[in-house]
Amino acid sequence: MVIVDAHSDYALHVYREHLKGSKNVLKEQHLPFLRKGGVNIEVLTVGGDFELFPEFDSQDYNTILKVIDSIKNEISENPDLFYLIKNSKDFENIQKNNRIGYIMALEGSNSIGRNLSLLHNYYNLGVRSIALTHNKKNLLADGCAVKSAKGLTDLGKDYVRELNNLNVNIDLSHISEPSFWDVLDITDKPLVATHSNAKSLCNHPRNLTDDQIRAIAERNGVIGINFFSIFIDNEGRNATVDRLIDHIDHIVEIVGIDHVGLGPDFLNYYIKDLRSLDEQLDDPFGDTLDIGAIFEVIKDVTEFPNLFESIQKRGYSDKEVGKIQGENFVRVYKEILK
Ligand SMILES: [Zn+2]
Repeated sequence: MVIVDAHSDYALHVYREHLKGSKNVLKEQHLPFLRKGGVNIEVLTVGGDFELFPEFDSQDYNTILKVIDSIKNEISENPDLFYLIKNSKDFENIQKNNRIGYIMALEGSNSIGRNLSLLHNYYNLGVRSIALTHNKKNLLADGCAVKSAKGLTDLGKDYVRELNNLNVNIDLSHISEPSFWDVLDITDKPLVATHSNAKSLCNHPRNLTDDQIRAIAERNGVIGINFFSIFIDNEGRNATVDRLIDHIDHIVEIVGIDHVGLGPDFLNYYIKDLRSLDEQLDDPFGDTLDIGAIFEVIKDVTEFPNLFESIQKRGYSDKEVGKIQGENFVRVYKEILK
């Protein structure tokens, strides 16, 4: 059994803790949760186009380099607990070595600017999953919150070709629909949306249409289910674990069991920090973001075992639950990373 959490942002938490002088943040503050959840592999955002905290300037590659440094230091200081996944062979003996494998990811490529050599530098440092945008626009593409969004820019097209050459995973969560289809025209690799749900069950710009879900599946790709209540149901109060599993059911129904996984997007490790920010967080989709309400459904990774039990109760076999828990993501990442 392999458990993959295909989207988490706590590298930023680790970095912020380092700024305060803390040490062993992965080991002491995150590992106990991951162990309880049984997680083997984490796709970990080391930076991107969002600006949750004043010390993160998405335009500034220096910040991203510092976050990468924070994570790599903790990993190399604890080789018995953690390792970095850079190539297909790094997926061997996942359970046997009982360590947490990290895939470093970029959630939006603002910091690249027009300088594609930066992409090579990120790659050389070990980044293996990259989203072109977060919710807004950048020089490469339009994010899903852009009204009358357009497709890729010429620079964006070159960028996708380069990601393709480097065998980096292209993460399609957050990108606008016209840009999504442009990416598919350029690359023939398997494609991934690490943390998005089904739009036909919850009509939100962050979710995927059935056509998008089919297109990802046709490429032998995978979609990670996001646990944010606002992406589970348009009526917050109807966002339950059951409704979350409805999204899994829906994807399985239209494209089969091989194309769904988990991309929870837990933020439990800094809800307090987010709440303490002076200004209300800016929701690019037009509402006021209620951070607390977003996480009512499943609070953190320790609840994974309960979720798996609920999925099983829906009638999925052990083998099928295994695919949802992580085997689908492992299959696809192995094929993309080479
Ligand atoms: Zn995201």
